Amino acid sequence: MTQSSDLTDELDDCFLKTAGNIIKYYDDEESRKKLLKNLRETLEENCIQVTKIKAANEIKEHLQFDNMSELEKDVKNLTQEYRKALSEIKVNPAEDKRLIAHNRQVNDLIQAIKAASNNDLDNTDTDLRLTSSEINVIDPISKTRMTDPVRNAACGHVYDKESLVAMLKKNPNTRCPVVGCTNTDYIVLSQCRFDIVTKTYLENNPA
Ligand SMILES: [Zn+2]
Repeated sequence: MTQSSDLTDELDDCFLKTAGNIIKYYDDEESRKKLLKNLRETLEENCIQVTKIKAANEIKEHLQFDNMSELEKDVKNLTQEYRKALSEIKVNPAEDKRLIAHNRQVNDLIQAIKAASNNDLDNTDTDLRLTSSEINVIDPISKTRMTDPVRNAACGHVYDKESLVAMLKKNPNTRCPVVGCTNTDYIVLSQCRFDIVTKTYLENNPA
């Protein structure tokens, strides 16, 4: 993984944690919606910029490569070609994986909270108590309570990041340790991303 995609991952986690905080601290549905929308738009803007920079770099490399042997070629033409290619970059943020992942996690959290409040009607003062039925707080690797939960996109199982990293460091070719997991592929760390639903549950149900 390149350094820049690490940074993008970190940034995405920040966006998600911020969304979690908005949901946690804003009871009023209108302001909550508005803030979540602002946050999503900021992420969307970032997705567009990142995609454009990536595409621009590809164009640049392509042009440089093509013109290696023609160093005398008119610089003006080259610049024009570059500008034209840049202006033709098309970005559709709605198809951006980062934005899709963000929206999915935020929706999962809102749904989990809604489901919890329907199950618990006299629970009026707690805005954020999730149901425990589908949320596992015990890390399958260390068998202790998680602090930094990450969800494996390949199978949906959640682990604690620290023990996952340690386990993969020892043996990079490791399969999901959850008993009964049907995924037989090795765990890919970059596919294991911060999980807002488990994190929120952990925060609201201290050990
Ligand atoms: Zn699994």
